[in-house]
Amino acid sequence: MDEKPKIFIVEDEKHIARFLQLDLEKEGFETAIEKNGKRAYERIIQEKYDLVLLDVMLPEMDGMEICKRVRQISDIPIIMLTARDEVKDKVEGLELGADDYVTKPFAFEEVLARIRGILRRRNEEPRQEENRLIVGGVILYPDRYEVRVNGEFIELTHKEFELLQYLVENKPNVLSRDQILQKVWGYDFFGNTNVVDVYISYLRSKIDDKFNEKHIKTIRGVGYACRD
Ligand code: CA
Repeated sequence: MDEKPKIFIVEDEKHIARFLQLDLEKEGFETAIEKNGKRAYERIIQEKYDLVLLDVMLPEMDGMEICKRVRQISDIPIIMLTARDEVKDKVEGLELGADDYVTKPFAFEEVLARIRGILRRRNEEPRQEENRLIVGGVILYPDRYEVRVNGEFIELTHKEFELLQYLVENKPNVLSRDQILQKVWGYDFFGNTNVVDVYISYLRSKIDDKFNEKHIKTIRGVGYACRD
């Protein structure tokens, strides 16, 4: 990063936003403040920030909803500022794709340490942000073996992930069962192509059925394809 990192402070409590702003600027960051949730979401999408500090309780759209929506299209680092010391809030925030959280009341040093940690990790893996595959509301992060559907983290096995990745990489083309078997299970896999059908059904139940979408198509007599 050759310029000052830009931190977007989404916080409706004026004194907290202000104290974060002053201290962050003192540490060499650029900052912007937004107190309205809906507007904050729009600004995260339209403007360019390096990291978002995101309060949970906000007017018009809460922090959880913002996090969920942003994660559908961006993996900008997000640190949630949770007002209550509630485990539920933290878990929910992390499941929605937040990178970290800080519980109020917090010491500035704690926030600063989290920000620096996340920005350092991002700089060490600059390609991570670009390396993702998208089909409809489904986003795959091959480096992390992670899948999110409409912002929600989905647990896939290794083979399920590789199968989905292969299909998405080749969308909208059709792949035969033999091609899939060779690619995902390896040339020396001594098995039946039924294993492909079985894994396709696992993927469908975890992704298509659960979210009422239809990305994984059966092309009769040919094989399978992934489409938006
Ligand atoms: Ca608040």
